Amino acid sequence: MCGILGVSLPFQPSFSSCQKDETTGSKFSGKVIIIGAGAGGLSAGYLLQQQGVDFELLEASSMHGGRMRINTNFADFPIPLGAEWLETDTSVFKKIVNDASVQVNVETIADDPDRKFVNSSWFTFFETYITPAIANKIIYNSIVKSIDYAGDQVVVTTQSGQHIADKVIVSVPLKILQTGDIRFIPNLPQDKRTAIDNMTIWEGFKAFFEFSEKFYDDELALTINPASDGQKIYYNAALGQRTTRYILGLFTVGKPAIDFISRSGEALKDFILHELDLLYANQATPNYIKHITQNWNNEPFIQGGYLTDYADWRMVRKLGENVGNKLYFAGGEYTDGEDWVSVHTAAQSAKTAVAAIVN
Ligand SMILES: Cc1cc2nc3c(=O)[nH]c(=O)nc-3n(C[C@H](O)[C@H](O)[C@H](O)COP(=O)(O)OP(=O)(O)OC[C@H]3O[C@@H](n4cnc5c(N)ncnc54)[C@H](O)[C@@H]3O)c2cc1C
Repeated sequence: MCGILGVSLPFQPSFSSCQKDETTGSKFSGKVIIIGAGAGGLSAGYLLQQQGVDFELLEASSMHGGRMRINTNFADFPIPLGAEWLETDTSVFKKIVNDASVQVNVETIADDPDRKFVNSSWFTFFETYITPAIANKIIYNSIVKSIDYAGDQVVVTTQSGQHIADKVIVSVPLKILQTGDIRFIPNLPQDKRTAIDNMTIWEGFKAFFEFSEKFYDDELALTINPASDGQKIYYNAALGQRTTRYILGLFTVGKPAIDFISRSGEALKDFILHELDLLYANQATPNYIKHITQNWNNEPFIQGGYLTDYADWRMVRKLGENVGNKLYFAGGEYTDGEDWVSVHTAAQSAKTAVAAIVN
């Protein structure tokens, strides 16, 4: 068995015929380019590194982490501006690290139906266990404009030059492919293109407010009708954290998020305080201390929240499929169709993509 495989992840390809190359640890001895340094791209790089495969990771922005971004100045615990909950069990950490010799220590608490990190975050986990091994392979401020996979090798063009590889792992948000910000030469196969174009990407917004008192519930999920339009939840963001601060979170995706992403500055702050005053008998405005917001639709290299929970799993599976033996897809949205839009599915899809390459 190739060492890359986690033992209990579903849908893992069979590796019964794996034969490692003496020098690289993998059957594959070419070069890989990964596009996008979010959970999917970082996981893919980490796994390629474990296999001794030559790769580089092109990231459009000046930072890695993508939708795992945190704020470390607002409170005395990391504020997760995107991914916050662990939407599976804690055994996934060891599967992502994929190295039995590494001791993995991540403190989480139950927050039904998921789990929350305690004074930590998904980003912190990646910073501790995944990113350090590949930090020197990330090339920041490299905005990929086109991927030409017509020839024997793949030519990836950024705003500042060309990069050539044998295989490419695309790990950008699905919205980036929908908007055509990356051109594929030749065009992607029609069934893949149809799957990309027909997917609904929910808008994405989060806010965190510090108050002088805790007047709010630990969770207040507002009813969205129909449910497929999205979600909107006010919650106690300090739940389970080692802090004395009162931090309320707002998580909203899909149509209910439009009220928030269409506002900014004082108007946005007043809109949220007004809504909280209505929900909690005018207790928000007098207790307000400070706030931060995160509008994911405004991020030039993200452009949205995430793929709707109500997507057709067959189409999702199509998103995750390779194109020939040159293009591979990894990320929260490019999965096996069993599950999508979370950090652990991004890591799992990277495992699948890398397994397909090194086999
Ligand atoms: C509001 C919100 C809340 C969420 N909550 C949770 C949660 O609680 N738990 C959970 O598990 N998941 C959650 N998620 C989902 C999770 O964040 C994502 O599924 C996961 O982080 C996606 O990782 P990724 O690598 O696929 O994409 P991303 O993290 O988006 O990374 C893609 C990277 O590609 C880069 N890029 C884009 N275009 C280009 C280009 N042209 N060239 C080069 N690079 C490019 C981007 O800059 C980015 O760094 C949430 C997401 C949002 C938005």
